[in-house]
Amino acid sequence: MPVITSNTLKDTYDVIIVGSGAGGGQTAYTLTMEGVKVLMLEAGRSFDPATEVAMFQLPSHAPLRGVSTPDKQYGFHDCSINSGWNIPGEPYTNASPEPEHQFRWWRQRMMGGRTNHWGRISLRNGPYDFKPRTRFGAGFDWPIGYEDVAPYYDKVEMLVGVFGTNEGLENSPDSSPGVLQPAPKLRVGELYAQKHGQKVGAKIVPIHRAVLTKPQDADTLPAKLHPKNAKAQRILAEHMRMRAPCFWATDCHRGCAIRANYDSQTVHLRPALATENLDILPNAMAREVTIDKQGKATGVTFIDKTNGQERHAAGRVVVLAASSQESVRLLLNSKSALFPHGLANSSGKVGKYITDSVSSSVGAHIPAFENMPVHNEDGAGGPHAYVPWTLHDQNRNGELGFPGGYHLEFTTGRQMPSLTVVNGIDRLAGDGGVLYGKRLKEDARRFYGCNLGFGAQGTMLPNDGTYCELDPTLKDQWGIPVLRFHWKWTDFDLNQVRHQQKFITELLQAAGGKVSPKTEADIFKTMKPGGSVIHEVGGAIMGEDRETSVTNQWSQTWDVKNLFLADGAPFASTADKNPTLTIMALAWRMADHLMDELKKGNL
Ligand SMILES: Cc1cc2nc3c(=O)[nH]c(=O)nc-3n(C[C@H](O)[C@H](O)[C@H](O)COP(=O)(O)OP(=O)(O)OC[C@H]3O[C@@H](n4cnc5c(N)ncnc54)[C@H](O)[C@@H]3O)c2cc1C
Ligand code: SF4
Repeated sequence: MPVITSNTLKDTYDVIIVGSGAGGGQTAYTLTMEGVKVLMLEAGRSFDPATEVAMFQLPSHAPLRGVSTPDKQYGFHDCSINSGWNIPGEPYTNASPEPEHQFRWWRQRMMGGRTNHWGRISLRNGPYDFKPRTRFGAGFDWPIGYEDVAPYYDKVEMLVGVFGTNEGLENSPDSSPGVLQPAPKLRVGELYAQKHGQKVGAKIVPIHRAVLTKPQDADTLPAKLHPKNAKAQRILAEHMRMRAPCFWATDCHRGCAIRANYDSQTVHLRPALATENLDILPNAMAREVTIDKQGKATGVTFIDKTNGQERHAAGRVVVLAASSQESVRLLLNSKSALFPHGLANSSGKVGKYITDSVSSSVGAHIPAFENMPVHNEDGAGGPHAYVPWTLHDQNRNGELGFPGGYHLEFTTGRQMPSLTVVNGIDRLAGDGGVLYGKRLKEDARRFYGCNLGFGAQGTMLPNDGTYCELDPTLKDQWGIPVLRFHWKWTDFDLNQVRHQQKFITELLQAAGGKVSPKTEADIFKTMKPGGSVIHEVGGAIMGEDRETSVTNQWSQTWDVKNLFLADGAPFASTADKNPTLTIMALAWRMADHLMDELKKGNL
């Protein structure tokens, strides 16, 4: 079974999955490895990470000095296509014009979704993150705990290949022995910050990233991941052997032609296709989940973007993995006499309780780094270290004014300079003049790589003022109603940003940095707008009962038993961790349950 066109659709499938990113990819992988016949609908075009990425082109190779084009909104080298904050013909709206109530929505319309381009930071949620109400008296407890997801975190990490170390941290769980790949060495700026950060209690440890630092163990991992399934073991072993470890010299946002880093196609879709149980239909924009008179899902209506025609695909089970808010949009657009307010929305909670990470950043010039000897700092794309949240005692004692916490990600390094690397050098030189000639070269050498900065990403608890709904009038180019967002920061979030600013400033000053702190008076200008961190989740949250949530603990909608969600929509709340590893672990867990239910004849 291959990548198909709408003319070669089969009459029916066991399962239809909408979306080919992290959640859709993981679901397709798990199901097809066990023999389930799957159709994947993907709104974007086919994309081949092995041949299409501009991984090996130097800045000087980029046409027009690498500027963006309508198709490549992030410039020549960026591997994302038809993606970004604004996609032509596919608008969304904000209910309020006020800056502090804005939500920004980053979407990726290509095979593999945002996994082609993401930062690959892969942190596990901890036990406290699944129980915020029990722990802090705020937010919603998940109906599951860390122990329910832990085996799936292990499985995803083994499949995908995540490097990192086990540090025994409170609420940043270790992986099981032998699961993680070895972490690369820290870079100079990270080691320097690690040393000086101790003065202010900042613990700096290797980050976890979905990048191979050595070949995957194709002799033992497949049997661990697929016991008693010889075919799956053979296919996975073959695909693990096709992946090379990172050679440390390119930018992962360009995509990875040697398959060292995780993207959905490399890790999930290629082996899933090799099972011959998967059909993938690109350029298929899902519009509506269809249901029968009994309220069971029967399939998905979609627009074939190659000719604008509406088509229908039939299946016994539907899984939405279109990214959290797109799945919400599909539910809201799937109206019927049985579900006049949108599918699976008898609780009225579809679209409610969206969250993103709470974030702000501070940077500094570090004089100690000036005129650093030239040295090679190549490595996996992005930093090799991070600052996990460790102030759990202060949380426990209610000293902070906000529940949860945040982790810090680095901006530092002396990797291959980009086209704009000398921007701002005249400002550092202090004379305000335009530099050229010998002085420009000297200053470029003196100042290159002597900045250090941190961006915080923290827990946002769901609140009633943050939700999305269908815009009453606006439709996209396919005639599908678009989303309108409402966004509200709570005092918890604002207090957290104040704490972020103070703590990062102290950390940078401890490292001898010349810091330009952002103003606390205008906290909304200091923090990143909603959606900017691109960790939006929620909108179809899971819970203990059908009155107050959209799905049960298996991401199965309460109202429609053969309808499941496999992206971030069922998140009951966020953590001080990035969400994607958890999306994949939950998708695997959901897919196992789905297969059990199929076998029992319950779906
Ligand atoms: C620059 C960047 C950096 C990031 N860094 C990190 C990081 O370091 N760590 C982390 O955890 N997360 C990170 N993220 C977030 C991460 O990419 C997402 O959490 C993750 O990709 C979500 O997976 P998903 O499957 O829900 O959605 P996606 O990966 O967005 O995939 C959804 C797919 O569904 C398709 N689709 C949408 N609507 C329809 C429709 N109606 N019909 C058919 N198909 C549809 C889309 O085209 C897309 O291919 C980053 C994101 C970006 C953009
Ligand atoms: S740094 Fe490594 S993982 Fe990233 S694109 Fe380059 S080779 Fe691939």
